Amino acid sequence: MTVEATPFPRHILITGGSRGIGAACVRAFAARGASVAFFYASAHDAAAKLSAETGALALCADVTDASAVKDAVTRARAELGTIDCLVNNAGIAQFRLFTDITEDEWMRMLDVHLGGAFRCTQAVLPDMIRQKYGRIINISSIWGLTGASCEVHYSTAKAGIIGLTRALAKELGPSGITVNCVAPGVIETEMNAALDEETRAVLCEETPLGCIGRVEDIADAVLYFASAPFVTGQVLSPNGGIVI
Ligand code: NDP
Repeated sequence: MTVEATPFPRHILITGGSRGIGAACVRAFAARGASVAFFYASAHDAAAKLSAETGALALCADVTDASAVKDAVTRARAELGTIDCLVNNAGIAQFRLFTDITEDEWMRMLDVHLGGAFRCTQAVLPDMIRQKYGRIINISSIWGLTGASCEVHYSTAKAGIIGLTRALAKELGPSGITVNCVAPGVIETEMNAALDEETRAVLCEETPLGCIGRVEDIADAVLYFASAPFVTGQVLSPNGGIVI
């Protein structure tokens, strides 16, 4: 038996779509002719602008709020149709010595990344299982692969995303659903706006390809997983070679 060629997904939900990597994914899927909905937390202006540009449905839904996620998925489903591809991208970052991280900060970091992926995935899965088709693409980080000093909670959450991807891929394969993970290197977004010039220069120097990545590099990897019927449980790390 061979895997059948399956169609490219048509109805896409992207969390954290208002800015950065998520916004690049919104643009990339919309350019492929897919219907797209995206969640965001508070950047109303950016979300409205992207929605006007791409036709995507912008939904203000905090991924740490279970009922907001449920309501927003219901709305996305009503306006787009059954969601057949979910990109779990919403994320936050924080630079702190481990000894200074408060319990609230620790819990928040895990809740946005892992709790968010849990809630959004559970909300879209029943339809995917019924259709025996789905694509789930989780955004981790190179720090989830290697660990980063002063970002222990972030690295822990991102390593958890890789574990979630691998385990869920095994559970959902028989239902025709693939689950994969993109683990970006350093990408030019607002998340890295605080990096000073010296740190940027060091990062570029340590990267074999000599530069920081673009959001489109990550959207390309997401599109690949969306279109690959025989690939599941995998981690692809577009990172310029900083982690090999
Ligand atoms: P940005 O800070 O540019 O954008 C973050 C996005 O997530 C925004 O759309 C934001 O919404 C949304 N968001 C944050 N918290 C929540 C929440 N609780 N509920 C709903 N949406 C939320 O980040 P990036 O584009 O840089 O990062 C995107 C993902 O890629 C993250 O998971 C990040 O960890 C990961 N990543 C980024 C790297 C980088 O170098 N930039 C490297 C490796 C991984 P709003 O605009 O409303 O605030």
